[in-house]
Amino acid sequence: MASQTPTISIKLLINLESNTVLLAEAGSDFVNTLHSLLKLPLGNIARLADMHQCLQPGCLNNLYNSVENLGLEIFRTKACKHMLLYPRNVHDVEFKKLKLNMDLSVPTGCFVCGNVECSEIFGGLFSYYKGTRCICEWGANRDIRQFIKIDAVKDETEGVLYRGESMFFITDDLRVMQGSPDDLIQFLLNMGLKNVSRVEEKVVEIERGIGSGTTPMLDELFSTIAPKEKESAEKDGKTRVKLMLRKSDRKVLYAESSEDFVDLVFSFLTIPLESVLEMVLVAKGSLTLGSISNLFRDLNTIFSVSKQKNSQQGVLPPFYSCPKEFPNICSRDPPKYYHVFTHYDHLTEGEKDTKIYLQPMDPKSPERIPTNSSGYVEKNSFVVTDDLVVQPRSSVSSISLLLEIGIQLDDVESKVISIGEVEAIALLGACLWSSSALTASLNSFAKKPKQEPL
Ligand SMILES: [Zn+2]
Repeated sequence: MASQTPTISIKLLINLESNTVLLAEAGSDFVNTLHSLLKLPLGNIARLADMHQCLQPGCLNNLYNSVENLGLEIFRTKACKHMLLYPRNVHDVEFKKLKLNMDLSVPTGCFVCGNVECSEIFGGLFSYYKGTRCICEWGANRDIRQFIKIDAVKDETEGVLYRGESMFFITDDLRVMQGSPDDLIQFLLNMGLKNVSRVEEKVVEIERGIGSGTTPMLDELFSTIAPKEKESAEKDGKTRVKLMLRKSDRKVLYAESSEDFVDLVFSFLTIPLESVLEMVLVAKGSLTLGSISNLFRDLNTIFSVSKQKNSQQGVLPPFYSCPKEFPNICSRDPPKYYHVFTHYDHLTEGEKDTKIYLQPMDPKSPERIPTNSSGYVEKNSFVVTDDLVVQPRSSVSSISLLLEIGIQLDDVESKVISIGEVEAIALLGACLWSSSALTASLNSFAKKPKQEPL
């Protein structure tokens, strides 16, 4: 049987003299897929990169694996771990229309209490995640998706997909230009190429499958993130972290923290790549990313994205934790679900049409609350290594950590620093490009003589 895997063809223009790819020519399907990649949460990017065995700079994969390896008891609820491992994005419905959809998010359900008596009394309570604890101590285990409807909501996906038929040129440094033959001639001339006979065209098929051997889109994305110098600045923040530093070279050996810092770093997995780039690029001078910033800027222009509108809407799905260090990263309000009893034969037509609105329950909270609580992990002490492996403090011995690093004890000092927006953005950027994320982002903040109380 022929493979049903959807593919997209793109044309590569190859310089025969140097045997290098000059640029790719692609249609709107490919540009839509590129654009959707920017809208995926970092946790899904980590999964995709892992599936495709892409080389990942930074330590996003360690962060992701930490969540995977931590026991359920570390998290406030079972759903907290699930939300971090399979983060949803607010455009998942729209992405299903893509010819090549790279989104790995898992659809959620609409679960009500498994205790039928209870769900009839409190008929309106639901959770997106199975097992959320109900007021009666039972779990929300009954999926009633097939019985519910959703109030029509305004289409908020404007600008997510490019609808026209158009050709685009994508350069090696990820510039994306709407293509015309004129642009192509100018580009080739700029590259110093006058003789078109030295250029060969090669068509390649892009597919989602693992190891497809085609254009490595994610490799491309990751390989273009390159470190640049950072700038130090300090803001007051309540999240504090104790850094263990090697005096001789200021390397951060590891950090000790409470749950608020771990909640912050775990929430990185849920933030769309696009919002990450936006924050990192806006934080002028704190980090400059490589050619991925070209891709980000050009796609923003092509898709005419209104950032202000997005930030007002919230970039995270309902009930995802909004880190206080990133005031613009907010979750959306849940849609209004209701059910009608059309399937009950004994009801009158009027009764069958009655809309019963469901009240959402926060899947992150062990208590039944309808509002969004903060945080994914239980109160605890944690050790976070320089490359962002997170473990509970109780399971790590400091001495064995130091022995592992192989360091003289008189070469170690500790510094407590507070994490505000500036530090958090620096750490978020470093998580993407440095395998020593704590050192790369926080050691400059630890130079201040002032010692903070933990
Ligand atoms: Zn119940």
